Amino acid sequence: MNTEFSCQEMTEVVTDYLDGALPSEERERYERHLFYCAGCRTYYEQMRVTITQTGKVAREESLPPALRDQIVAQFRNWKRDHDD
Ligand SMILES: [Zn+2]
Repeated sequence: MNTEFSCQEMTEVVTDYLDGALPSEERERYERHLFYCAGCRTYYEQMRVTITQTGKVAREESLPPALRDQIVAQFRNWKRDHDD
């Protein structure tokens, strides 16, 4: 039983990880994957920041695309405020 999370699985469990809902064995597996996978580290950071800002963990299956849209929208707003 030493299977690693795939990147797909990482995106599925990120909310549970951030919510402290993962069993310790899976937390370790999650952190091990984060250690060697830059893509998942970036995704994790975006999720962490978003959840901190919204103050809650969203659980919809459609979260990744919605999250991406939100991040893009935030970036556009920031750019609009800083570009003339
Ligand atoms: Zn990964």
